[in-house]
Amino acid sequence: MAVWDDLVGQDQVTAQLVDASRDADRFVTAAAEGSAEEITASKMTHAWLFTGPPGSGRSTAARAFAASLQCVSPDRKLGGAPGCGFCDGCHTTTVGTHADVEIVRTDLLSIGVKETRDLVRRAQLSPAGGRWQVIVLEDADRLTEGAGNVLLKAIEEPAPRTVWLLCAPSLEDVLPTIRSRCRLLTLRTPPVDAVADVLVRRDGIEPELAAQSARATQGHIGRARRLATDERARARRAAVLKLPMRVDDVGGCLKAAQELLDAAGEDAKQVAEEVDAKETEELRAALGAAAGTGGRLPRGTAGAMKELQDRQKRRSTRTQRDSLDLALIDLMSFYRDVLALQLGSRVALANADVRAAVERIASGTKPEQTLRRIESVIACRQALDRNVAPLLAVESMTMALRAG
Ligand SMILES: [Zn+2]
Repeated sequence: MAVWDDLVGQDQVTAQLVDASRDADRFVTAAAEGSAEEITASKMTHAWLFTGPPGSGRSTAARAFAASLQCVSPDRKLGGAPGCGFCDGCHTTTVGTHADVEIVRTDLLSIGVKETRDLVRRAQLSPAGGRWQVIVLEDADRLTEGAGNVLLKAIEEPAPRTVWLLCAPSLEDVLPTIRSRCRLLTLRTPPVDAVADVLVRRDGIEPELAAQSARATQGHIGRARRLATDERARARRAAVLKLPMRVDDVGGCLKAAQELLDAAGEDAKQVAEEVDAKETEELRAALGAAAGTGGRLPRGTAGAMKELQDRQKRRSTRTQRDSLDLALIDLMSFYRDVLALQLGSRVALANADVRAAVERIASGTKPEQTLRRIESVIACRQALDRNVAPLLAVESMTMALRAG
């Protein structure tokens, strides 16, 4: 399966990337034969910015492009598009072991100057495989301003074989100086049918479940896959969709708010249990602590341990926030369905699996009320973005969701 097959509903972007990878391949071949051409004049360039709504497949597109740049399939000499999916270059890039492809994904809220300097240093290396040194920065929107300036210098004066692939939700999420030096690609939210199709084809999910998951997440591939494969995610969504029926009185509102936060806290705890202990143990070993719990750290290494603990704490905050945001997105989607019914719209409901609940709320209230409720969910997400205390923000939302 060619690396491009993972890009769902993005024909235009795919065509552009295939063209670029052909030119990139021509450049590498010409250079190997001693007749290098100018790369900037072609469809290939050193810095790319992939934007698109969450779930549209920004990082999938960037990785597919990275793989195609490393593709060494003999077919590409016969007119086939680079990115065959089978050769060593494609395969190692896809599984994350290619020596010349660095994929940076962060579970933190921001990427700082120090990490970015390390990356820039890495980017200056000549590609070991003789093709391209590719750096995929999946969360370019999380660069601090300082980090952005470090990156800017690297993009302004790129090493001849270095390619930066930056991903961010929108253009506004990246420093204007950086985006003006990148070639821009905009992905769209893929159609629900295309998402369901890829879940069946690639993940072997049963068609009905695939269709339902794709519809419930409205074209967000990653969330659809998680919903289709993870029992816990389905239980979480089911609980969130019951919330509109439970906010009849103040007590119910406060209880619902607390439960939303508890669920987010549980998610963070689960992630912490999975990774934190292992990371801490690895660092202890690296720092030369004696094995076992009684092992003391050598002098002067406490700083590194403290740094790891801070990192873990920031990750926990981020996980909680992401989990809560997903719940709010589900809630908003429920009220959108309510509004659709109230306005007599014929679009398919995203939450058709809880149609009875949607109908009950729709018939008992007015569209104006539903609009106000949707606004209160939006306001809650914005408040959380501004670091308002989560319980406060969520309580004020559940109170606003109350009937009346
Ligand atoms: Zn290949």
